[in-house]
Parts: sequence; structure tokens; C-alpha cells
Amino acid sequence: MNEIVGGVRRTKVLIVGSGGNGISAAVLLKQAGIEDFVIITKHNDFGGVWHQNTYPGCGVDGAISIYQFSFAINPEWSTLFAKQPEVAAYLRKVAADHDLYARTRFGTEMLGAEWLEDSACWSVSTTGGTYHADALVLVTGFLEEPVFPKIPGVDSFEGRIFHSSMWPEGYTGEGDRIAVVGTGSSALQIVPSMQKAARQVTVFQRTPAWILPKNDRVFTAEDMASFRESPEILLQQRQEIFEYAERMWENAFLMKDPAESQKFEDMARAYLEEQVPDPELRRMLTPDHQFACKRPGASDDYYAALQEENVELVAEGTAEIGAGSIRSTGGREFEVDTIVLATGFLYGGHVLHKIKRRDGRTVGEVQQGHPRAYKSVEVSGCPNLFLIGGAGPNGQNWNGLACGEVVGAYLVKVLQYMEEHGIRAVEVHESAETEWKRRTDEILAHGPTVAGGCVNYSQDDTGHNKAAYPGNQREMEAALSKFETAVHHVIA
Ligand SMILES: Cc1cc2nc3c(=O)[nH]c(=O)nc-3n(C[C@H](O)[C@H](O)[C@H](O)COP(=O)(O)OP(=O)(O)OC[C@H]3O[C@@H](n4cnc5c(N)ncnc54)[C@H](O)[C@@H]3O)c2cc1C
Repeated sequence: MNEIVGGVRRTKVLIVGSGGNGISAAVLLKQAGIEDFVIITKHNDFGGVWHQNTYPGCGVDGAISIYQFSFAINPEWSTLFAKQPEVAAYLRKVAADHDLYARTRFGTEMLGAEWLEDSACWSVSTTGGTYHADALVLVTGFLEEPVFPKIPGVDSFEGRIFHSSMWPEGYTGEGDRIAVVGTGSSALQIVPSMQKAARQVTVFQRTPAWILPKNDRVFTAEDMASFRESPEILLQQRQEIFEYAERMWENAFLMKDPAESQKFEDMARAYLEEQVPDPELRRMLTPDHQFACKRPGASDDYYAALQEENVELVAEGTAEIGAGSIRSTGGREFEVDTIVLATGFLYGGHVLHKIKRRDGRTVGEVQQGHPRAYKSVEVSGCPNLFLIGGAGPNGQNWNGLACGEVVGAYLVKVLQYMEEHGIRAVEVHESAETEWKRRTDEILAHGPTVAGGCVNYSQDDTGHNKAAYPGNQREMEAALSKFETAVHHVIA
């Protein structure tokens, strides 16, 4: 369809987002013969976080064997923990291989969306005009909106200051005195790469995280040749890592077996002891919260970098920024040329505040800081709205792409069901959504992200977890294996 009527572009499905999960949703639609869709994205290429985050050292912190699409297994990765340029190139290639460029409007931001009762479609306003779509698919990411800490004096700083996701093109840190604020996953990659180039790196740590080694390895030309010739080797590797990750998720995050959960913390503690002989530095790096309360880090070189002569760990927050300096909460002043804000992201961003329910109120307004979606995908009051990946509250498990494929497959099932039954729209019952969220909160209440003794990005305004899916990957697949007529209203 995709025709323009009265300045409004019309399409059956509008996908918002061109990250990995936007790509897989589009590919799954195409594979099911649903060709009438458009992708819009505020970025100027495919890749999402892998397009946006370009800092030196940026790469996956879960093995690439399972951080790739099941329909596009790549034998050419150069390392087990691939770096950002390779991941971004892979995502662009998959998009090109499936002819997605021609269907995508780049540099187009969704500003808001409302359901039009009479025509049973979404009216979506964007920086590139209005779209009318029978189904609206939000794939807007969960680590997308940077958090900027409010440090007094920040505007007076005369050097470079930027968020880790807005790395200045070509900036290497060569010869500079650099402050890295924050010690989450991005900082774990930034600190070792800046250590090699900078004159001095000062790392400000409010709360340490548990870290496990990645045990990264390089794939040689022979490895790649054998992967190409015998794809079953890759599939076998993928399966083994999948099983490990499922166990880790069930035990460390969902606490199905507390004894197993403790083993992960023991592994992280042993790694710290092995890597950091200095008792004072080790004390500073030892978390006082349970494993997986904060997202556990994965690194082979962070602890080593911290022990280099040109690096100092300051186990304090930041109190104030001056014209050429930064002061810690303990009153220590450091002269710096550059400040890197490795301060993370607002989980899920503000996207639900842009979506108006049938009653005219936004989803964000109604949900009041306690976001919920049925099975992480559908929202009451919003017919034919589908949330994929982190756009959906409680939509994440151990792998940011695998869950997207599961929801993409569910989206296809619902659209096919509607087509077969001549249905224009489906809307989940509010009671089903509320009950799902109640059970989710109950499952996650005893886990480390809520009860583990730390503050983390997954906690919502009410202290509940808004990020984690309350089951493993297999359970998510089972939960989304079919369209349930009993919990949906139907608009014929
Ligand atoms: C540095 C970094 C490293 C990571 N490493 C891993 C890892 O190793 N393993 C893992 O499992 N996960 C990792 N993640 C998590 C990552 O977010 C997910 O794995 C995954 O990439 C999410 O894909 P997505 O397509 O859902 O969202 P994203 O990749 O975030 O893409 C979101 C898309 O939505 C678009 N968008 C957002 N808002 C709008 C709007 N209003 N209008 C139009 N377009 C909009 C953006 O332009 C973008 O195209 C990492 C995240 C970061 C930031």
C-alpha cells in the first residue's frame, strides 16, 4: 500500500526503530509474506545502539555466537566478543540483504501516536509527516536515552564533556587527562582503551559491579573456514552458550536455585581476588550487593587497566565540575581535559509517554511510573500496538536480540490471525495485563534486582523491576507461541 493520501502516508504496519530488533521484526514480516510495512528511525542508518555507540573498545559483552539472528548466522566474526564496527556492519548487511533500506525513512523521529476509532488505525506524527498504520510496532530500544547526571558546574567546564553514547568522531584521548564518570558496562570497555592512549585516567565509581571474565578469543582464518564448511560447529557453540545463559538467567536473576545463584557471585569474587592483589583496591572494587543486582559486567582487561600507573580509581561520586577540573564527593580535585559521562541510560526511555490510549491519556500517564504490558508486548487501551525488545516493560532477558525475534514471530502470528478472521484490530484486556504484571512483580520481588541491596536502572518509581522478563527464553517462547482470543477484545 504505502500510498500518500492528503499528505498522510498509509501503511499496514509501521515499525519504529532500526536497531537489531527493528531489523528482525521487518525480516520476519517479509518472510511471512507481509510486505506492506514501513520502518521509521531517528538514526541515519541501521544498527540502533551499535550505530549510536562508537567509543573505542565498544563491543558485545555476551558472546557473539548468541548475539546474532537465528536467520543470519555469520561465520566471519573475528572474535568471540565482537567489537562495535563488526556488529554494526553485520546489522547493516542483514538489512541490505533483506532489502530494508528502500522501506526505511531515516532521520524520522516519532513524536506521538493516537488511535483513530473511526478508521481503526494509528495516526503517528513524526518529524517527517504523519503516518496512518493499522499496526504500530515500537522497537525503540531500552538503552537509548542517555542519562546526564546533574553535576553542579557542568556548564562551566572548558574541556570536552560528552556522554559515552555520543563519542566525538575520531577522539582517541591521546595525551589527555580524562575523567570517566561511572563504572557500568560502557566504562568497563572505555577505561582500558583510554588507559592505552591517555596521560591520566581518573575513574569515578559510586558503586562497584560484579565482573566476570569474558575469556575472549580470536577466530583465525582456519576457524572461519571451518565454520563456513561445517555450520553445525557454530550451531553447537551457540547451543552450549544458550544453555549456559538460560541457567544464569534462571538462577542468578530469577533465583530459581539460590545455591546456583551464589556460585556466580563466588566466581566473580574469585576473579577479583585473582586479578587484584592489592587489598585496598580490592576492597574498593568489592560490591556490597548481591550478584546481578546491578547488571554484572564482563571484562578481561578492566581490572588490569585500573592497576596501570596512569589510572586511578576514585571510589566516590562527583561533587562539582570547574573550568578545568572535577571534584569528588570526598573533596579531592582532579585537573582534567576531558570528561566522559559513562552514566548509562534511562531504561526504556519515554516512549510510552508518546502513545495515547483510546481514552486520550498517554500510556505513561495512566501507568504512573509502574510500566506494564501484557507479556511485555501489548498494552490495554492501545489496539494493534506491539512493543518489541526493551520498548516493552519486562521484555528483556539475557540477550537483547533473541527476545526480539520471539516477539517478532508473535507479531506475525497476530497479524495472520487478524487477516484470516477478517479482524481489523485486537486489544488486550486490562485485567489480563494487570494480572500479568502482578505475577511478574511477584516473581521478581525476591530476585537480586529488587531485593539485592542496590539501586539499579531496572527499578521503576515504585521499586519494582520494569526491565526483566519473568522467565527464561524458552518460557518467553512458550508464552508467546499463540494468539489468545480469551484475553483480547476484537474490533471487527
Ligand atoms: C553500548 C551497548 C552495548 C550493549 N551490548 C549488549 C550485549 O553485548 N548483549 C546484549 O544482549 N545487549 C547489549 N546491549 C543492549 C542493546 O540495547 C540490545 O542488545 C539491542 O541492541 C536492542 O536492540 P533494539 O533494536 O531493541 O534497540 P536499539 O538498538 O536501541 O534501537 C532503537 C532504535 O529506535 C530508534 N528510535 C528510538 N526512539 C525513536 C523515536 N521516537 N522515533 C524514531 N526512532 C526512534 C533509534 O533510532 C534506533 O534505531 C548493549 C547496549 C549498549 C548501549
